Amino acid sequence: MTAKTPALADFRRIVVKVGSSLLVDSAAGRIKEAWLASLAQDIAKLHKDKRDVIVVSSGAIALGRAVLKLPKGPLKLEDSQGAAAVGQIALARTWAEALGKHKITAGQVLVTLTDTEERRRYLNARNTIAKLLEWRSVPVINENDTVATNEIRYGDNDRLAARVAAMASADLLVLLSDVDGLYDAPPASSAKAKHIPLVPRITAAIEAMAGASGSELSRGGMVTKIEAGKIVTTAGAHMVIASGHVDHPLDAIAAGSRATWFLTPANPVTARKKWIAGSLEPKGTLTIDAGAAAALRRGKSLLPAGVVRVDGVFGRGDAVLIRGPDGAEIGRGLVAYDAEDAAKIIRKSSGDIALILGVEGRAEMVHRDDLVLGGA
Ligand code: GLU
Repeated sequence: MTAKTPALADFRRIVVKVGSSLLVDSAAGRIKEAWLASLAQDIAKLHKDKRDVIVVSSGAIALGRAVLKLPKGPLKLEDSQGAAAVGQIALARTWAEALGKHKITAGQVLVTLTDTEERRRYLNARNTIAKLLEWRSVPVINENDTVATNEIRYGDNDRLAARVAAMASADLLVLLSDVDGLYDAPPASSAKAKHIPLVPRITAAIEAMAGASGSELSRGGMVTKIEAGKIVTTAGAHMVIASGHVDHPLDAIAAGSRATWFLTPANPVTARKKWIAGSLEPKGTLTIDAGAAAALRRGKSLLPAGVVRVDGVFGRGDAVLIRGPDGAEIGRGLVAYDAEDAAKIIRKSSGDIALILGVEGRAEMVHRDDLVLGGA
C-alpha cells in the first residue's frame, strides 16, 4: 500500500508552531497583525470543530530587539535574554487578543529544556497543558528565553514544539515556516530542486537533504525541522511543514496546498480513538442496516435512521458495540443517547429527534469522531 497524505480533519490535537519571521515584521518593529488574525481565525475554526489546539510561538527575541532597537547581527546571550523579556510580554498579549476575538482564552506557558527533559517537571508541564485544554483554552507556549542559558536551551522552537507535541499526546505537529517543505536540493540555488510532498520515514537520505549542501539560510533551518520530525514521529504523531507566507495558512494546508508530510510509523489513530477501541467495556449494542454500515466505512457518522435495534443498558457517552445486519461487529463508539432515548429514535430521521424526545439532541447517534471501525 502506498502512503497517502493525511487530511487536517483527521487530527484531534494539533500543535501549531509559528516562526518568528512570520509573526514579526522586524523592519517595522511590530507584529504582522493581519496575518496573525487570519491564523487565529483558522485556529478558531479547528477549535469550534472540537479540536484541541496548542500554539508554540516564536517571536519574543525578534520583537524585543525591534522594540529596543538593538543593532542587527547576532546577539550576546544576555542581550537575547533581555530582548526576550521585553518581547514576550507583547507576544503573549498579542496572542491573547487575537484568540480573544474568537472568544478563545489563551494561556501562556513558558518552558525550559529542563522542564521537558526531567520527568517530574515534564509531568508538571504536561498537567498544566492538559488542564488548559480541558478548559478549552489554547496554550501558547515558548521557551523561557529569559532564563535559558547557552548550554541549557532549545534555542529553536522546532524541537521545542516537537517535545510539546509528544508531551501533550498530540497527533499532529504543524510547522509554519519560511519554506513550503523539504526539497531534495537547495531550492534557492537549484532550479531542478524537487519538492518532497511525503516522507513515510526519516531515512539517512532524507537527513542528507536537509543538511548536505546549501546555506543554512536557504534551507530555512531544515536541520532542526528534521530533528523535530524524528522526535514527533517516534512519539506517534505526524508532522507537516508548510509555508506560513500565506494568509489562512492552516486552511491552506486543509485545502491540500504544497507541504511536506512526515508520517509516524505508529498507527495514526488518535489517542482518543485508541482509548475507545481498546480500553472500554461496551455497555450495549447498536445493530445497523447495510446502508449505514457502508456509510460508516466511508467515514460518516452513524445516524439514528440507520440503526435498527438497540440492546443493553447504557447512558449517554457510554461505549457501545456496533453490529452490521449479519451480526458481525463493525466497530465501537461512544453513543450520544442513553438506551431508552436511542430506542425511541432508531429508524427515524435526525430532524425528528426534537419532536420525539421533546429536547434538541445531536443529529448523530455516534459521531464519527467517537467511532472506531473494526481492526483499528
Ligand atoms: N524562542 C525564541 C523566541 O521566541 C525563538 C526560537 C526560534 O526562532 O525557533 O524568540
